[in-house]
Amino acid sequence: MHGRLFLVDTGEQVQVQLKRYGISKARLDNILISHLHGDHLFGIFGLLSTMALDGRTAPLYIYAPRDFGSVLRFFLAHFGEGVKYEIHHVPLSMKEPEQIIALRNCEVWAFPLQHRIDCFGYRIVWLKTGQSMAYCSDTMVFPEEPTWLQGTDLIYHEATFADEHVDLAHKMFHSTAREAALVAAAAGAKRLVIGHFSSRYQDLGVLLSQAREVFPETYLAEEGKVFEV
Ligand SMILES: [Zn+2]
Ligand SMILES: [Zn+2]
Repeated sequence: MHGRLFLVDTGEQVQVQLKRYGISKARLDNILISHLHGDHLFGIFGLLSTMALDGRTAPLYIYAPRDFGSVLRFFLAHFGEGVKYEIHHVPLSMKEPEQIIALRNCEVWAFPLQHRIDCFGYRIVWLKTGQSMAYCSDTMVFPEEPTWLQGTDLIYHEATFADEHVDLAHKMFHSTAREAALVAAAAGAKRLVIGHFSSRYQDLGVLLSQAREVFPETYLAEEGKVFEV
């Protein structure tokens, strides 16, 4: 947005991937963390440390569940030497969609997902054009979801499992590719990007075709792939 970047979740490889795709950390002011599972968070310490080494002075805002506060305190207590920039944790605990960021030309909304621990989805709306994108991971599908995502141009939704593992998906508070597609269809979305695949699937084409049976405009979230809204 105006040359500034939003980052959603910080997996273990986040610094490697930012470097690989030539994305400048200096342009990053807002980090949106969905939940405190390691696959979404373990990269944060390295990222915060490198920002300090790079001489960052601009404040950084981290939107994350309430419990992230103790993670940040741990980081600052043990690795905070040399951190010369302010890190603001904005704790999330909403029960329905709430606006968390309001800029001149865009706003960001957060809303609760249905996972094993507190978990939040995000929706970014460009005010001039009315276009929007949403990020929903990790979650099982739930009744309010299509309403909260109504009219979203691009939805990223987790699709950890295929049809054959639908029971496991619900037990683990995850979604199948077909369920993600049903949400996109009910929300009247234009496109759906699915990701967060279980490593048990060698052939992601199975997940893609199950989703496309319901919602043809579905695409796989592949490394490095760019989707324009
Ligand atoms: Zn999770
Ligand atoms: Zn996950």
